[in-house]
Amino acid sequence: MNDSQSERTVVLLGIGHTNAHIVREWIRRPIPDTRLVCISNYSKATYSGMLPGVLAGNYHLEQMEIDLQQLCDRAGARLILGTVTGLNNDRQEVLLEGQPAVRFDAISIGIGSTTKPDVSVSDDATLVPVKPMQTFLRRIEKQVDDTEVKRDEGFRVTVVGGGAAGVEIAFCIPNFIQRTLQSSEQVNVPCCVTLIHRGEELTPGTTDGLNKRVRNEFRKRGVEVLLGTGVTQVVGNRAVLSDGRELISDLLIWCAGATPPPLLNSLELPTDAAGFLLIDNTLKTLADLPIFVVGDSGTMQDREVPKAGVYAVRQGPILWENLNRILHGEPLKPYEPQQQFLKLLNKGNGSAIGEQGRISFEGRWVWWLKNWIDSQFLKKYQDASSS
Ligand SMILES: Cc1cc2nc3c(=O)[nH]c(=O)nc-3n(C[C@H](O)[C@H](O)[C@H](O)COP(=O)(O)OP(=O)(O)OC[C@H]3O[C@@H](n4cnc5c(N)ncnc54)[C@H](O)[C@@H]3O)c2cc1C
Repeated sequence: MNDSQSERTVVLLGIGHTNAHIVREWIRRPIPDTRLVCISNYSKATYSGMLPGVLAGNYHLEQMEIDLQQLCDRAGARLILGTVTGLNNDRQEVLLEGQPAVRFDAISIGIGSTTKPDVSVSDDATLVPVKPMQTFLRRIEKQVDDTEVKRDEGFRVTVVGGGAAGVEIAFCIPNFIQRTLQSSEQVNVPCCVTLIHRGEELTPGTTDGLNKRVRNEFRKRGVEVLLGTGVTQVVGNRAVLSDGRELISDLLIWCAGATPPPLLNSLELPTDAAGFLLIDNTLKTLADLPIFVVGDSGTMQDREVPKAGVYAVRQGPILWENLNRILHGEPLKPYEPQQQFLKLLNKGNGSAIGEQGRISFEGRWVWWLKNWIDSQFLKKYQDASSS
């Protein structure tokens, strides 16, 4: 049996950086005669910008989480926790495993991206993909607990992926490993980090200035950086590299690139070559349906937009406007991606590296700024008194 069809329904599939904005708008000014249904695979949403800070011990886990039930209650929205199996595009329904289908008048799909290794990985591999982020800490904790640490070898961490996320994780992971070893009463040994990156430069898309600061910091800390190197296979604690070498890791964190969640491919909507859903400049699918696709899940047909949270966040107000417009049969508003944005990398030691335009900078004040921006952002979703 389907849900009641007496009023219009807006569905948000995945409550990430863009869709969460819609829930917040709904708290302040719900669309009349319309109900909001949110569907998520986890009861908490995580804010990736703070994940490295949680590893470094700058924040508790809860500080990077948004309690979705609480947020939806504030908006008078229904939250469905479950597994979506597909869409029935003719009937405009979301199909769920073991639950009734949900009809929609408009839907926004924002289920992000995954970081699935594109190489063969044995069942007993020490590899931990960074996503889903909701379970990342638990999974690396388990890997540390399962490791028989040897005093003379240290705890060997390999991070695969030298984008901003991989770099921040490489900066911040030693603190987490040390804390976990202490709490599990294991031998406390130094954490030795290796960063592997397929490209010739770390943090692609940034200036030489930022890049130099990152490399200097790794040099100071003794982090080994392997550029122009890929992983071709992971067997147990052994990663086979593209140059034939083998690298032993007690923990191998996979943080390389954004891959499409498999669900996207089963929605019978136009996709790009990778499998992300193609959208026009109003964030709408290319199919003639009231379906928006936001954040990492969408690829603009004629613009190259990086898959980054800052873009997903800026799509929020456009999506809100366009959900209203589509329900009222009005022309949709175009989204114009920003040309550049402030980049801030947490070094995990009370300092950060940043870049705005062509200028790079570094210091405690940069960390202070990052902390302030991230905390203010999350407060809007965590604090019931904020509007
Ligand atoms: C470690 C790390 C650090 C990063 N730091 C930054 C940064 O500092 N700045 C920046 O701009 N970008 C950063 N990024 C990139 C950023 O996280 C993504 O670009 C951003 O999360 C995209 O937002 P989104 O709304 O598309 O997806 P998400 O924020 O990932 O939200 C998707 C939501 O959908 C849910 N979901 C997934 N599948 C389903 C399903 N089948 N059914 C229902 N719900 C589902 C997920 O649980 C999640 O809550 C970082 C990424 C990583 C991995």
